[in-house]
Amino acid sequence: METLRIVVDRGRCTGIGICESLSPDRFEVDDDGTLIVHDDLVTAADRDAAEAAVSGCPAAALSLVPAGS
Ligand code: SF4
Repeated sequence: METLRIVVDRGRCTGIGICESLSPDRFEVDDDGTLIVHDDLVTAADRDAAEAAVSGCPAAALSLVPAGS
């Protein structure tokens, strides 16, 4: 399966942290509301959690793209 990469649209992200609750190993919202992505590569093993975060983001700020792009 192709490796994917998480991309954050910083202009859309409001720092609410739904992604952090859905995928806490990958996402963290710091005290001033800035989203930190600890690992932007998505492998087959963690694809479900990454897709849940992408679809759960209320601001549509997350997307998955091929890792090489
Ligand atoms: S759920 Fe979306 S808007 Fe909220 S912190 Fe995560 S990326 Fe940003």
